[in-house]
Amino acid sequence: MELAEKLAILASSAKYDASCASSGSGDSCGYQSGNRSGGNGGALFGRRLPAGVCHSWTPDGRCVSLLKVLFSNSCRFDCAYCVNRSSFDSRRVSFTVDELVSLTCEFYRRNYIEGLFLSSGIFSDSDIVMEKLTATARALRCEAGFGGYIHLKIIPGSTDKAIREAGLWADRLSANIELPTDKSLQNLAPGKSGKMIFGAMGDAYNLEAENREDRRKFALGEKTSVPVFAPAGQSTQLIVGASPETDKTILTLSGALYRKYALRRVYYSAFIPVGISGADGLHDPRLPEIAIRPLLQREHRLYQADWLLRFYGFSPGEVLETDSEMLDSGLDPKTAWALRHLDKFPVEVNRADYDDLLRVPGVGAQSARRIIETRRSRSLTFENLRRLGIVLKRARFFLTANGAFLDKPEDPKRIRRTLSDPDHLQPLLFEF
Ligand code: SF4
Repeated sequence: MELAEKLAILASSAKYDASCASSGSGDSCGYQSGNRSGGNGGALFGRRLPAGVCHSWTPDGRCVSLLKVLFSNSCRFDCAYCVNRSSFDSRRVSFTVDELVSLTCEFYRRNYIEGLFLSSGIFSDSDIVMEKLTATARALRCEAGFGGYIHLKIIPGSTDKAIREAGLWADRLSANIELPTDKSLQNLAPGKSGKMIFGAMGDAYNLEAENREDRRKFALGEKTSVPVFAPAGQSTQLIVGASPETDKTILTLSGALYRKYALRRVYYSAFIPVGISGADGLHDPRLPEIAIRPLLQREHRLYQADWLLRFYGFSPGEVLETDSEMLDSGLDPKTAWALRHLDKFPVEVNRADYDDLLRVPGVGAQSARRIIETRRSRSLTFENLRRLGIVLKRARFFLTANGAFLDKPEDPKRIRRTLSDPDHLQPLLFEF
């Protein structure tokens, strides 16, 4: 089989994994078609990305392109939601280590990508599959001199020895939980268990801690050399809507994962039925019938709530403190919290501390820092706030400047009407 054909299949098989933040580009294959600006000499503007190229974000907010592929789409597991499951009749292919190394290097040289995201179906014993991913990363680093970003998936069931080796060559590792409870795993992903997945996360966490301690000793001259273990930490993915768990269950789990395993990121992926219903007649009775749009809205709200947990000092209990088990679909979770706590507002922008400013809808972490910095030299007005980037459409109900309101928060129903966005999916990276 041509390498380009393998790439098209194994990139398509990988695109449902959201744990590197993007689900990949279209299905055109630049590897096959070469440089599209050549040929007739006509002026082409822009280009489609090659198969398997997706976008991800670094911790400092930089957008990077990654080659996102599976090593193999053969899998002995039968996860109901997955296009690679053993019971699904699809064409099975695998790369060799050499093929993946040369593909990655070629894409990198052509400036298509800055790194590799590599996962795999579990075609053999977990450690054997893990070693294939690790061998690819090792060959890229040691033989090809590749210095770009590498994200490796931890194969469920891998031993800590295999995870240790993977972390020596990868920037980031991720073990996907996929479903929030053992009951749902048993139902939809037989063969996986919470113990298996949390065990892998725990191993990666302990190895990171051990490596930190070794590097501390190295800095003190007590060790001669220490390789760095997965410097970009670990992440995971949760599928939303394939199983009956509520937002409360999901956010409580995410909060625990951030605390217990110091995860850098939990990715939420709205369940998209692929190859399981419709014209192919392959609907799996274990899966629910779903409407996609409300699920995308739910995914969006979970990302907003997650942002509050990671950067705004909210606990899962505060984000969902009412009897409802689900986030408000019509309001972002920070505004919903503020409306439940109008007694804590208004906040006086010229006196409030950083933590109180962070709780104001429309004021993000960067804006809160700017407010504190700027008010050292002058007293702030609403016009100053607008220039500092505060979203006054949201903040106007919750702030005073020198005691003056822009809009008094007298009627929660009116505020709710003004700030609701039931049909509009906002971009993920914004301050709310
Ligand atoms: S283990 Fe499950 S989710 Fe992973 S590739 Fe196999 S069937 Fe898909």
